[in-house]
Amino acid sequence: MTASSEWEDLLARRPSFREVLAPLGRVIDAWGSWSDEGFAPLVCPIETAARLWSKGEPLLAAAPLSIAPERVEPHFHPALDVLAGIEDTEAFTGAWDSGEIGPADLLPVSGRIGALELQERCHLTQDAVAFLAVAGLRPVLSAYFGGCQELVDGGPWDLGICPCCGAPPGFADLLEDGRRQLACHLCNTRWIVARLVCPLCGNRTTADFVRLIAEETDEGYAIAACRACRGYVKELDRRARWNAGSAIVEDWGSPHLDLIAHRQQYWRPIPTLIQLTASLSNQRS
Ligand SMILES: [Zn+2]
Ligand SMILES: [Zn+2]
Repeated sequence: MTASSEWEDLLARRPSFREVLAPLGRVIDAWGSWSDEGFAPLVCPIETAARLWSKGEPLLAAAPLSIAPERVEPHFHPALDVLAGIEDTEAFTGAWDSGEIGPADLLPVSGRIGALELQERCHLTQDAVAFLAVAGLRPVLSAYFGGCQELVDGGPWDLGICPCCGAPPGFADLLEDGRRQLACHLCNTRWIVARLVCPLCGNRTTADFVRLIAEETDEGYAIAACRACRGYVKELDRRARWNAGSAIVEDWGSPHLDLIAHRQQYWRPIPTLIQLTASLSNQRS
């Protein structure tokens, strides 16, 4: 099933979101234009993965990826449309067109998404950079790391960043067997973490963990937040929602939950429309 058709299913379940989420739908539709033709996915020997992971480093650290800008440009256009009127993207498009910045500048580095130099040069918020990275690079990164999921499944990785690209988690799923799985929005890798650890700060003090919505409000959905870092990750119990879409579709399709978290002043590392629009109101006030 393609992301576009999953998205359509989700909107059929939540028709009242159709209009407000339409710009994100165009981002998802643009991903359909990606073609693997002539693109070599990463082949990572198990020894290399084990060596990197034992140091807490993602596979990207030893496998730099060069991406031709024209291969990903179709994905950036609808993403820039989402940001139109929210952030000034002129410096970004100017620097991109002149080749001063490129896809590699948006990759995760040391726990953050995108190079700090790019953010400063383009006068964008961290939220905008993270959003552009997901929207623009998800197809190419999914293709690059597509063969690595098996390594991850058998590997020892249990940190709060993606074992392949190093991005912070975008969403969490509770699987059939009750284990907690994080999903990377940049490269679509999934990995298992302990349930009683905050993936954003590593905190293990259970008294700090809060659920921001009552479970019966939206069956199967939860906002798992941490009082220590004030971060949250939305979570879906797949046992209660067997017919739900993939992590990014469920994440982007549940803005009402982000609104609840945002109102209680919790943050997330990869924004949704709620956080992007909120940075607009912060600039104005
Ligand atoms: Zn990743
Ligand atoms: Zn935390």
